[in-house]
Amino acid sequence: MKENSLLVIIAAAGSGERFGGDTPKQYMKLNGKSVIENSVYPFLVSKYVKQVIIAISKNDEFIEKQDFYNSKKVEFVHGGDSRQDSIKNALALDYKDFEFVITHDAVRPNISEADIANLYKDILNKNVSCSFLYTPVYDSIKIVGENDITKDKDKFLLVQTPQICRLEDLCNSLNKCIKDEVECPDESYAIEYSNLSLSKVKGRRSNIKITEKSDLEMLNNFLNISGIGFDLHRYENGDGIILGGCKIDCNYRIVAHSDGDVLLHSIADSILGATGSGDIGLFFSDKDPKNKNLDSRKIINHCLNILDKKNLEIFNIDTTIICEYPKINPWREQILNKLSEIFKIPVSKIGLKATTSEQIGIIGENKAIAVQSLVNLKEKL
Ligand code: ZN
Repeated sequence: MKENSLLVIIAAAGSGERFGGDTPKQYMKLNGKSVIENSVYPFLVSKYVKQVIIAISKNDEFIEKQDFYNSKKVEFVHGGDSRQDSIKNALALDYKDFEFVITHDAVRPNISEADIANLYKDILNKNVSCSFLYTPVYDSIKIVGENDITKDKDKFLLVQTPQICRLEDLCNSLNKCIKDEVECPDESYAIEYSNLSLSKVKGRRSNIKITEKSDLEMLNNFLNISGIGFDLHRYENGDGIILGGCKIDCNYRIVAHSDGDVLLHSIADSILGATGSGDIGLFFSDKDPKNKNLDSRKIINHCLNILDKKNLEIFNIDTTIICEYPKINPWREQILNKLSEIFKIPVSKIGLKATTSEQIGIIGENKAIAVQSLVNLKEKL
């Protein structure tokens, strides 16, 4: 396996493929990047890949905004009406120096560098014209007809990309298909049509082709943006505290410039942390007179606006309140309901736990209350 030896063609000309919105599927967001950025990335970092050609549609208005647009490894060609035309257009450029070409779909974002290496290894070991990724069929399978007829699923397999071909064999095979007016669903078919040899490598079922909106939702569930928060405030004698927007009766009050809602402050910091936006002090200084007795729900609204701008939403929140008094349990439900209202997420997505400090230290001696929190964010679809 030679380093810097592979040519890659990515078919991304499918401009009509939308979920109904304005953005074609390959440019929808997935895990903080676009689908196509995810699809292209493993090729950019693979040591075996020398050049990546991306076949885009003529009126593509999104491509310039992609993170790989200025990469030296990447070139663009205009795609044709069909997939095989796009691949053909890319191969029409002068790539005689390459022995092998990998083809891939812009809307298969969940591939890895290992997939590339496995295919390269396979085509060399088996000395074939093409090697492709596949998965077995695990569901029952029927042929569609007047009466759908069940077939033996073990006799079928699902074909994925990437696929690797000997460049010369692929060029000849595609020409033959075009001449015979045969449409290729993928490059392995062109090779098969020319009666050339093929091999296959078992892929992963998670290497899905984004076709329906639910495909994107599924991949997006793997996203993990987390932030942690901590806040502590001093106690003095008083007639109650505010926790999560709820007034709670007890013999203490919180010493603070704002309303001292230590629970909301901690969660706010975890959101600001997860989004890389700094901390509460940056936006709501405790030196600023206009923040005197500030309602902490304003801080949360600020955080929710940041999430909105970054197209993120809260997946779940977990918190631990550390204090001797008040006892949290009697207030638990009320606080949870309030948090659900403030953060606009269901109660089932909020963790609210309480512990004491075993009567030692400043918290144990009722001189302070603290809250630890964690938030997980996900991309808004
Ligand atoms: Zn605070």
